[in-house]
Amino acid sequence: MVMEEKIRIPNLDKAKYGPQRTLVRRAEVAGFGFWTGKDVLLEFLPAPENYGIRFSRTGSDSEPVPALLENRAEKPHQSSLTDGAVRFDMVEHVLAALAGEQIDNCLVRINGEEMPGIDGSSRPFSEAIRAVGIKEQNAPRRLRVLMSPVRLEGEWGWVEALPSEAGEISYRYELDYSRHESAPTTLQKQSFEITFYSDAEKSADHFFETEVAPARTFLTSAEAYRLLEMGLCKRVTPRDALVFGPEGPIDNTLRYPDECARHKVLDMMGDFSLGGALLVAKVRAHCTGHVQNAALLKMILEQTSII
Ligand SMILES: [Zn+2]
Repeated sequence: MVMEEKIRIPNLDKAKYGPQRTLVRRAEVAGFGFWTGKDVLLEFLPAPENYGIRFSRTGSDSEPVPALLENRAEKPHQSSLTDGAVRFDMVEHVLAALAGEQIDNCLVRINGEEMPGIDGSSRPFSEAIRAVGIKEQNAPRRLRVLMSPVRLEGEWGWVEALPSEAGEISYRYELDYSRHESAPTTLQKQSFEITFYSDAEKSADHFFETEVAPARTFLTSAEAYRLLEMGLCKRVTPRDALVFGPEGPIDNTLRYPDECARHKVLDMMGDFSLGGALLVAKVRAHCTGHVQNAALLKMILEQTSII
């Protein structure tokens, strides 16, 4: 149903978001899942207009699972999708790459349950997509325009989305581990914000590629030991993901001084893409994770429609 006539955001120029996009041809990324250690091959396949992003299992003829909030499954420290029968784990960095590269239509096919972790960032996915090329389609991009503020807060922090009168899209994350007793002081307070589609800057994908996609996932050494004791992430070394010890990242160097806050913005871009359209809003978060992002997105879906 077209709801466009109800939208009263001044200056909202739908044309500035451009047409829908897909890949020119198939791209692939190989690696192992961080949680399971299993080798997998992930493929990005071109898809028609208004298809959205969907996930399927290689060799299976069951219906692909749309990357929508209604198919999100709870799993600690990651975002998963399921239709009740098939699962797709750790999808957030793949979704962030697709969102950052402004891919509206794509079938993601994988021969396992968990997405490849690679270096813990979105860069390998982003590079694979760029390497085969991106194709513009005819239909305009699907938008979800936030009309009034939504906010969630708790002991953990807060997350909010504000309407964007000029039509720009921004994500801001404030990271503060100072309340965590076991967190190393090397994991400093930091924040990062990125804005797409502002009138001053047009080339949104350029920012994603250089400022967000390379930011890697991170954890404290205390968290890393806890996961290893649980038998998880055995194949991951501190070279694969940032592990913060008392002296800073173990066996690794930061790609940006504020790499952790940038990674949290990356996660937000992946998580908020589960709205099934480009979310025109200013999203701000302080010490949140996937669960809170999903809860806020649910509130946003209740008050917005796709136009
Ligand atoms: Zn992440």
